[in-house]
Amino acid sequence: MALIHVENLEKSFKDIKVIKGLNFELEAGKCVALIGANGAGKTTTLKMLSGLLKPSHGSICFEGVKKRDDIRKLIGYLPQHPVFYDWMTASEFLEYAGKLSGLSTMEAKQRSYELLELVGISDARNKRISKYSGGMKQRLGIAQAVIHRPKLIMLDEPVSALDPFGRREVLELLEKLKDEATVLFSTHILNDAEEVCESIIFLHKGQIIESGTMNEFREKYQQSKIDLVFQESPEVYLNALTDHPEVISIQVEGYKASILVNDLNAVKGLVLNMAVQGDWPLYKYEISSITLEDVFMKVVGK
Ligand code: ATP
Repeated sequence: MALIHVENLEKSFKDIKVIKGLNFELEAGKCVALIGANGAGKTTTLKMLSGLLKPSHGSICFEGVKKRDDIRKLIGYLPQHPVFYDWMTASEFLEYAGKLSGLSTMEAKQRSYELLELVGISDARNKRISKYSGGMKQRLGIAQAVIHRPKLIMLDEPVSALDPFGRREVLELLEKLKDEATVLFSTHILNDAEEVCESIIFLHKGQIIESGTMNEFREKYQQSKIDLVFQESPEVYLNALTDHPEVISIQVEGYKASILVNDLNAVKGLVLNMAVQGDWPLYKYEISSITLEDVFMKVVGK
């Protein structure tokens, strides 16, 4: 069931239209990634959905919510650069945020206790936020965004500024949040979206240029490829394949080569035979299917 319907959403700053008629629905209980390059319009879209920016045109409707209801109760939002009161402890900050969003003192205490456990910083609950690492602050920001049990949680680039450990922790946390609410997060890290999201919306210059699930993309852009890693430059070994009727293209980057093929069965054995007979200096031979990065490159026309 759809939680939110977005119709013909537009935003202009002065005379410049930066969001150009978005139409989409978010299904309840799913995790959705909003993907786009810098300046594509991700932040502007999330700000309109969270009520922080007024759309120039179009509508955002929550299922079962009347026009005059306060939608802020339904939404949790973590901005790209969250700001905290650094002199507070995490517990104090969360309790304060809970009370601001309408919880009683008791409820705010209880919920803050639960959430610090959920986001994995309960040991540091009484430490000042100024002493927190970037990853800890991001987790605290997520806890703050969900303190009032919203139905939709929106996170603007929640992992981009984190090191690989922090990123992993926050991605695991996003998985847990799916049990509590619908999650919409923006990113330009395609692997992250592929890992945790059920569906993906590609935004490009203020427009949705593709959307769907990874399986739908695999069907639509079905293309098999053979990835090879050599110990030296691969070109000389692959020349004989360039004119093969089932080979679409061969992309070489350093010692790596990707052979895109129409008919995998017609080429996979041939490449293996050539490798064995020609004694190719191969590190890796792998048959793989299309990735989100391949889809992104295709849809933005690169
Ligand atoms: P990034 O990944 O760099 O955060 P983004 O996809 O979130 O980018 P937005 O921040 O939504 O993109 O910006 C979309 C476009 O709108 C950009 O061209 C930006 O310059 C413009 N824009 C955003 N906010 C304003 C504003 N307040 N006034 C004028 N132009 C703006």
